[in-house]
Amino acid sequence: MSIDKKRYGKDWNLIANKVKAEAQYKCEECGRPNSLKKGERLTVHHKDGNPENNARYNLEALCTRCHLGKHKFLQAQYQYTQKEEQGQLNISTGIKQTPR
Ligand SMILES: [Zn+2]
Ligand SMILES: [Zn+2]
Repeated sequence: MSIDKKRYGKDWNLIANKVKAEAQYKCEECGRPNSLKKGERLTVHHKDGNPENNARYNLEALCTRCHLGKHKFLQAQYQYTQKEEQGQLNISTGIKQTPR
């Protein structure tokens, strides 16, 4: 199976529009409606943080505010994972992990 090298394919707009339509153009987190006049732009978020995973279960419509919040959370999680991989959290086990 080959993975598409483009992180956002040309289908992305279609997919994103479908997700937004299904959410009735409201943020799935806070219910804020999509209103360009008020600067409330609806975006589509990848729940697992992987922009290549466009499976429907992985996507949700979010306003920019909630979207940013999700990414802060994902980033914190990512850094934790990185630290863990570098063995910094495994000192007590005595096992040294080599980062790939
Ligand atoms: Zn929101
Ligand atoms: Zn996102």
